[in-house]
Amino acid sequence: MKMKDFVYKCTGCDKTYPGPGPLFRCKLCGEPLEVVFEGNKTIPKNGLSEQTMIERYCSFYPFDKPATGLSLGEGFTPLVESQGFAEKYGPGKIFFKNESANPTWSFKDRGSLTGIMHALETGYRAIGTVSTGNMAASVAAYGARAGIETFILVKNNLPEEKINPIAVYGAKVIKVNGDYGQLYYDSLEAGGELGIYFINSDSPFRVEGSKTIAFEIFEQMGREVPDHVIVPTSAGGNIRGIFKGFRELKDAGFADKIPTIICAQAEGCSPIAEAWKKGKRTIERIDNPETIAHAIENPFPPSGNEVLRMLKSPGGFCVSLSDEEILEAQKNLAGEGMFVQPASATTLAAIQKLQKDSYWIGSEKIVSILTGGGLKYTSVFEKMSLQTYSCSLKELKGQLQGMQN
Ligand SMILES: *Cc1c(COP(=O)(O)O)cnc(C)c1O
Ligand SMILES: [Zn+2]
Repeated sequence: MKMKDFVYKCTGCDKTYPGPGPLFRCKLCGEPLEVVFEGNKTIPKNGLSEQTMIERYCSFYPFDKPATGLSLGEGFTPLVESQGFAEKYGPGKIFFKNESANPTWSFKDRGSLTGIMHALETGYRAIGTVSTGNMAASVAAYGARAGIETFILVKNNLPEEKINPIAVYGAKVIKVNGDYGQLYYDSLEAGGELGIYFINSDSPFRVEGSKTIAFEIFEQMGREVPDHVIVPTSAGGNIRGIFKGFRELKDAGFADKIPTIICAQAEGCSPIAEAWKKGKRTIERIDNPETIAHAIENPFPPSGNEVLRMLKSPGGFCVSLSDEEILEAQKNLAGEGMFVQPASATTLAAIQKLQKDSYWIGSEKIVSILTGGGLKYTSVFEKMSLQTYSCSLKELKGQLQGMQN
């Protein structure tokens, strides 16, 4: 197979580098690169049920052919409208893009697929990632699916119960003692020398995978784009990909606008929100991150500066939420039938907070990205004081009667 011509463009200084790479960061300024590909973009009018995600949107990628054999059925996740939350919190319409319906229960599967496709296209026969959670499991699953050697680098102190759901896919899991932030950069360097393609949090072809979230929202809303999209943000790869997707829909003439970006972070680790509030152009490392929302706990996000640049677009907004607000929102979302991770619940907490700030006008359509499923972090139950009842078989009828409203 061969790839179509494309370049990598630096998000910071605009310098371009010819494809196919892989390349990850700008050699001049160190900022992340993005894939720029000129080609005729199309979205088929039909065929949804017979296609995989990458088949359907293949014209938005420099891949010659979609790699159907690698798919695990990622994408095409539900877009669920909640009238109740819209009435309660003020926006005209609220939709939830429920990414927990992916093969390993988070949006990471989209970028793991496009990342591994690029790895194989460029001749790599080993992949890896640096992660302690959703991305680790996702890369391990796709590595298993492709039948190639997969290395997962985790923090030294990661407990067994978090390692096993990664190791179960057969990946080689290595606990690394040392600065975890530095591991992102060192893995890319070692991988380059050893022929291991590290599909890290904001690697250009992982970001490419997140574009499909925008494409699907557009199709699910009847070929329309929402007014605002709220994205729980850590490294910044997903929010970049989603807005790149909307930008490409507009550039290709499908849509006439792009949505306003709302970036959601946890107060206990909000390097992007802090810099944004102070009007700074670069993020600063957070020293002792602490939040219940572990999936968005990156103290020095590798795409943080680019997210700050994106937030300069009209209406761009950043909000940080306390653990208390996050837990309340997580419970409220479960009360609507969607049990998601604390990180994902920041979106509903953000909607509520923005209501207090009179941000909503009452006619807007907003989409919240529920990035991952709740069952992965059952430890939050300890903080929820959930109630159950018990009775004997003989008491059952009386018990039910006593509890009926
Ligand atoms: C990875 C992840 C995020 C953050 O995405 P970034 O691309 O790192 O900004 C948010 N929520 C969940 C559930 C995740 O797994
Ligand atoms: Zn640069």
